[in-house]
Amino acid sequence: MNNIIFFGPPGAGKGTQAKIISNHLNLPHLSTGDILRKKINEKDDLAKKLNEIMSSGKLVSDDILNSIVASRLESNQENGFILDGYPRSLPQSEFLNNYLKRISEKINYIFDIQINFSILKDRILKRSTEESREDDKFEVLETRYKEYLNTTENVSKFYRESQPDIYFEIDGSLQIEEITMKITQILKK
Ligand code: AMP
Repeated sequence: MNNIIFFGPPGAGKGTQAKIISNHLNLPHLSTGDILRKKINEKDDLAKKLNEIMSSGKLVSDDILNSIVASRLESNQENGFILDGYPRSLPQSEFLNNYLKRISEKINYIFDIQINFSILKDRILKRSTEESREDDKFEVLETRYKEYLNTTENVSKFYRESQPDIYFEIDGSLQIEEITMKITQILKK
């Protein structure tokens, strides 16, 4: 089994790498951001609530995320999975760990793509014009980055300290191909 998690601040390139590796290994790519953006198109009450939270740059509630991920993993984990954007809080990582224990699975690789704020700012603002994502505006980026520092970084730190053998930090300032090569080399070991 290849159960892989990607961490990193918004704009670090975790979605890009998760997609590439998912194609290489033929594993389902579970991007919680993509799943939530699709839900927003449904235009019901939940969609309205999600749109408000996401366009402000804040995190969506753990309950919503945990139930989305559990239902996707249930139907989608024959050879493993790639999680992109989850877990983003300690309660989410606790939920995931309990869930995996229950189905006798574990995480095999964690890739934490690191990048500094100024490179990140340029990238996100570029993506904002290319993909017209509501949450890629500068003020929102600042909130998203704060959410990352205050909440999500504690999760990657938790894995780095508790499971150093499966935790790999990757330099996100490199070119996309170079990052993919580094990840692929680790996966081959
Ligand atoms: P992303 O595409 O991964 O950057 O996610 C876009 C937005 O979706 C985030 O800024 C959050 O508002 C929301 N989101 C995605 N994944 C999660 C998560 N695991 N926990 C809470 N909110 C999330």
